[in-house]
Amino acid sequence: MSFGYITRRFRFCASHRYWVSNWTEEENQAMFGSRTSKYGHGHNYILDVTLKGEVNPVTGMVINLSEVKRIIGAVVKRFDHRFLNVDLPWFSDLQPTAENVARVFWNLIEPGLPAGVFLHRVRLYTTESVFAEFFGDEGEAVFSKRFSFSATHRLQSDSLTEKENRDVYGKCNNEHGHGHNYEVIVSVQQLIDAVTGMTMPLKELEKKVRDFLNTELQGKRLDMEVAYFRNKPATSENLISFIREGLEQKLGPCLYRIKLKETNNNFFETGELFDGQ
Ligand SMILES: [Zn+2]
Ligand SMILES: [Zn+2]
Repeated sequence: MSFGYITRRFRFCASHRYWVSNWTEEENQAMFGSRTSKYGHGHNYILDVTLKGEVNPVTGMVINLSEVKRIIGAVVKRFDHRFLNVDLPWFSDLQPTAENVARVFWNLIEPGLPAGVFLHRVRLYTTESVFAEFFGDEGEAVFSKRFSFSATHRLQSDSLTEKENRDVYGKCNNEHGHGHNYEVIVSVQQLIDAVTGMTMPLKELEKKVRDFLNTELQGKRLDMEVAYFRNKPATSENLISFIREGLEQKLGPCLYRIKLKETNNNFFETGELFDGQ
C-alpha cells in the first residue's frame, strides 16, 4: 500500500488579544503593542490541516474528504466569530497566539480521526504574511513571516563564453540587467514560550530579517554590488544560499526553512523540510 498526504483548507474569523496578567500595562505594551487592547483585534484566519495515512486500495483515498469536512469543520465552527480569550475555554490561561491556536487545533482534531489516519501538520495563517505550524511535537512550533525586497540582476557565468551565456540564460543575460520584487518566507522553529505563547516574537524576527535584507540586498544589482556573486551566477538557487548563510548569522540554529519567490510562477526552497506549497 502507498502512503499519502492530503491537505484541506478551512477559514474562520475571530478576535483575540495578548495580555499577561501578572505583567504591568507597560510590560504588556512593550511586548505586544496594540495587540493588548481589551476589546481584541480580528483576523480572517486560514487553517490548513494536513493528514497522512495509507491509501485505501479500494477507494483510492487516505480519507474521504466529506469525512474531513465533517470532523474538522465541527472543530473550526467552535472558533468562528468568537473572541478567543473570552469565548473559548482553552485560552483562559494560554495566549491565543498563532502557535498556541495551531497547537489547540491539533489537540482537538487528533482524537476525532478514524483509525489509520494521522495528523501531519496544522498550519494557521493570521494574515497572508504570518503563519504558524504545529507538528505534534509538544512545546515546539514553526513560525513564519513573508518579507519582500527589490533587486536587479544579470544571469551570467564567467565559465561560459558570451554565446554560451546567451544560449543558457536567454533574456536573463541582458547586459543591463532586469529586476524582480523578490519574496522571502523565513521560518524559525523554537519552543513556544509558556508566558508569551510565542516562539520568536514577530518584532524580533522582523528586525533581524529586515536588517539583513535592507543591508545586503534591497535596491542592489546583485551580480555587481554583492560580493557573494562575484564568482557565481546570481540565480535564485545561489541567492537562497546567500540568504540562508546571512540569516544563519542573525537567527542561529532556530532557522528552519527559507522559501524564495522570484516571480509568482517560480519559487525555491532550502531547509529542514521541503514544503512545496
Ligand atoms: Zn492578532
Ligand atoms: Zn531574473
